Amino acid sequence: MKELIIISGKGGTGKTSLIAAFATLAQNKVLCDADVDAADLHLIMNPDIVRRTDFISGHTAAIDKNKCSQCGKCLDLCRFEAINEDFKINPVDCVGCGVCVAFCPEKAIDFPENMCGEWFCSDTRFGPMVHARLAIAAENSGKLVTLVRQESKKLANEKNLDLIFTDGPPGVGCPVIASIGGADAVLVVTEPTLSGIHDMERVIQLARHFKVPAMVCVNKFDLNLDLTGDIENFAKNEGLPLVGKIPFDPIFTKAMVQGRTIFEHNGDSSAGRAVKKIWNALSNKLDL
Ligand code: SF4
Ligand code: SF4
Repeated sequence: MKELIIISGKGGTGKTSLIAAFATLAQNKVLCDADVDAADLHLIMNPDIVRRTDFISGHTAAIDKNKCSQCGKCLDLCRFEAINEDFKINPVDCVGCGVCVAFCPEKAIDFPENMCGEWFCSDTRFGPMVHARLAIAAENSGKLVTLVRQESKKLANEKNLDLIFTDGPPGVGCPVIASIGGADAVLVVTEPTLSGIHDMERVIQLARHFKVPAMVCVNKFDLNLDLTGDIENFAKNEGLPLVGKIPFDPIFTKAMVQGRTIFEHNGDSSAGRAVKKIWNALSNKLDL
């Protein structure tokens, strides 16, 4: 089984539309939306949820006033200043370390688990999909990314599917680190802007750190041919395969607005032809 992570370093490069387009071309795959902070693959895939599971992560302390003797021990011990003089815990400041719970002489501090969101196994018109919704202001998105990747692998094993397409999170923080480790390859989708190039370079460094082979494709390449040339030179100098370039094409937006892939919207667009070439190159590189 192979896992291809598609990342961009920043939002707005057309990564999700590209994954949806690949989904129409690839056979025997599981789709995995690991962009859990801003999941949007479901807008095109329109999944039928088969299984829904709570995502529980961490704890938050809460003082039971009826049991508390106001000895002040928890106030002294909390290094995160989450407890005020009235012996109330601010859940935003509490990191769930549990120190106050362990040392409260009255056993007056509850320590319930946090409900941080939900994750789903679904059916789509292009095959099974694992995706998630992080609760508002909930943290631990790296953990949720790891979970949806693990569940995608389980699903691929159960259904005897040999490819996982993972829509990775933007940036280079914890969620994207959680999405890269252990993958077979990373496709970095970039665009010819200075910020796009900068973000691409950072994400490639990250992939290198985790020893995951990276490939590059340029979306909207014709919007700035000079910068596209810079990307090509960068890829060449770094020994990274440039698997293709996609012209600017409003079809991506039109298709997304209708909840369709670009191939469902128009079977023969210039962007579609470029995406097919990229898919062929990826298939060769991944030995599919
Ligand atoms: S340590 Fe326990 S008893 Fe003491 S103030 Fe805190 S909650 Fe109350
Ligand atoms: S669990 Fe840790 S962070 Fe939260 S209130 Fe207790 S000591 Fe402070």
